[in-house]
Amino acid sequence: MFLVDLLFPNRCLACSRITEPDEVVCNLCFDQIHFTHFKFSASNLLTERCRLLFPVDKACALMEFEEESLSQKIIHQLKYGRREKIGKILANWTIERVDFADLKPDMLITVPLHQKKLKERGYNQLHLFADTLSEQLKIPCSHTLIKRNFYKKAQAKKNKAQRNFNENLFSNTQRITGKHVLIVDDVLTTGNTMSAVAWELLKSGNNKVSVLVMAMD
Ligand SMILES: [Zn+2]
Repeated sequence: MFLVDLLFPNRCLACSRITEPDEVVCNLCFDQIHFTHFKFSASNLLTERCRLLFPVDKACALMEFEEESLSQKIIHQLKYGRREKIGKILANWTIERVDFADLKPDMLITVPLHQKKLKERGYNQLHLFADTLSEQLKIPCSHTLIKRNFYKKAQAKKNKAQRNFNENLFSNTQRITGKHVLIVDDVLTTGNTMSAVAWELLKSGNNKVSVLVMAMD
């Protein structure tokens, strides 16, 4: 054990009890996490929501995302709390709960951060999550296939300028075709970001897209 672990022991995000260094919540609080229990399917709630925006093959979300929920706290810590390793924990929970056998994507890709945001945060919160899945499922993963063109995040506003902005939010760094691509992101809210990434793949080649998110609200 390191001195830092003695001075600042890892604590459960829900109840603050001291837990193992590689845990995010204690055993007692684990049941408070709202898992969706989704399968990769053409008919769950997430697939239906994505389908309103782009032709999706199958979609799956690990958790439900509600205000003040434990899943929100976990993802907030992953993104803003400098706790990159939570990505690996979430990947392991995904492997335990979600069957990838019916999906069989050719590759995983992560939604990119802008270079400037990546520097500020120090890491992309999706990388360890996707890399862990990639390693365990033996499916290649790319973090660079899609590039983010703007620093500012697209707002939900839907005026014409905004639509154009969304259309150019991402671009391909490489043309792929005939692939089934699983796009990985943290939280799906409006779906606009996911849709912008999906359309980059759909318009550039004869590709099929599926979606995996840590949580959906
Ligand atoms: Zn706890």
